[in-house]
Amino acid sequence: MTELYTNLSDIQADLQQGKTSVVKLVEEYLSQIKLHSHLNAFLEVFDQEALGCAKALDDKIKSGKAGKLAGLVLAIKDNICYKDHKVSASSKILEGFTSIYSSTIIERLLAEDAIIIGRTNSDEFAMGGSNETSHYGPVKNYADTNKVPGGSSGGAAVAVQAGMCHAAIGTDTGGSVRQPAAFCGSIGLRPTYGRISRYGIIAYASSFDQVGPLARSVEDAAILLEVMAGADEYDATISHRPVPEYQKDLAFKGKKKIAFIEEALTSPGVDQEIKDVLLQYIEKLKSEGHIVEPISFEYMDYVVPTYYILTMAEASSNLAKYDGVHFGYRSPNATDLESTYKKSRSEGFGKEVKRRIMLGTFVLSSGYYDAYYAKAQKIRRLIRDKTLEILHDYDFILSPTTPTPPFNIGENIKDPIVMYLEDIFTVQAALAGIPAISLPLGNNAAGLPSALQLSGKCFDEAGLLAFSKYFLELSKN
Ligand code: GLN
Repeated sequence: MTELYTNLSDIQADLQQGKTSVVKLVEEYLSQIKLHSHLNAFLEVFDQEALGCAKALDDKIKSGKAGKLAGLVLAIKDNICYKDHKVSASSKILEGFTSIYSSTIIERLLAEDAIIIGRTNSDEFAMGGSNETSHYGPVKNYADTNKVPGGSSGGAAVAVQAGMCHAAIGTDTGGSVRQPAAFCGSIGLRPTYGRISRYGIIAYASSFDQVGPLARSVEDAAILLEVMAGADEYDATISHRPVPEYQKDLAFKGKKKIAFIEEALTSPGVDQEIKDVLLQYIEKLKSEGHIVEPISFEYMDYVVPTYYILTMAEASSNLAKYDGVHFGYRSPNATDLESTYKKSRSEGFGKEVKRRIMLGTFVLSSGYYDAYYAKAQKIRRLIRDKTLEILHDYDFILSPTTPTPPFNIGENIKDPIVMYLEDIFTVQAALAGIPAISLPLGNNAAGLPSALQLSGKCFDEAGLLAFSKYFLELSKN
């Protein structure tokens, strides 16, 4: 492949000058998809459709009427509904299901002339952190095919990593954009809860789910956020705040106050190289005149259990509709209504999804509701309050994105506790509803992508993105 573009603006400049065409770009991505099919990143490639759109877009560009995203070839995670296209949440229970409408974000992306090249593999119903729970098999990390790409948006991250598209759209319930971005070397942004419409996104845990971009540059993450964000009458939890022109406002000046999570440097569970990277950036920021101070987050031990109790409870309710009657898989072995429900669900859902539905049902059941669900709700409030308190005193919170580098396929899947603990640094933002971004910082000694996470104040994506751009420039010095 010719050298990958980092910025959409460079693609657009080359398109204007006739140095390339959208058809040529799509053809190149399609050939990369073919070349890297063993990575298992795509569940379906919309090749003919993407080429058709590319031809039409080349004409539109000539007429000077193309949208903001002209030239951007995108992959979408397989839990985002796109009218007349299959969507399965990487689950057998939705095998063969075709969406009858488009999510709000798809409509907005298409209206600005993005081209959607295919749907990407993910953990089943976005439940996982390694892309190993997919009914369609694991995705492999392009940097080392024995390693996981992270999850649940693992296919999206690898599609960007291996040049199979320019950027991708994932969803982040507790880290599913940021963690795979960290494991595959791209930028992954989780916006503030309520910034982007969830309409047409297959729900996992509704009070946590957010859409987010995986991109090669902060500029592109900004423009994708700008296009997708904003009020939507189909999402009752959306914010009606105006959407800033994020991409125009990326200049950073001044000095900031940054807190870093002290436990990240002291905990034996955090990889030494990740600690070293964190320390190195703390020193860099200090030498640039920023205030960088350690804080101890007193609820650190509670973030993972609270996240899992609440998301499993919400998942058990959200997934009740997959009953073998309304849509998706129906067991051929069923003989009556009850066995249709039982057999379709038993055969249609994978092990991890069933574990979560059962645990979620348990924590919501009378007799246990107060001890688990209600208590977890209270702890979520404490975590949110404490997080917002920190962000009252500081502009950003700096932490690793993940406690470990990409791990081996098969290494953690047998032990859910080990797998869930991988989310230790990403679930705080999800519980608190704040925006957070994972920033790629080169490779570790083993040649695997390395990253850090910055979290910011609610609805200050503009500040977070501008600082992220500056932070990445700092990494080059
Ligand atoms: N690993 C987390 C989980 O399994 C996060 C998943 C996500 O953000 N969708 O719940």
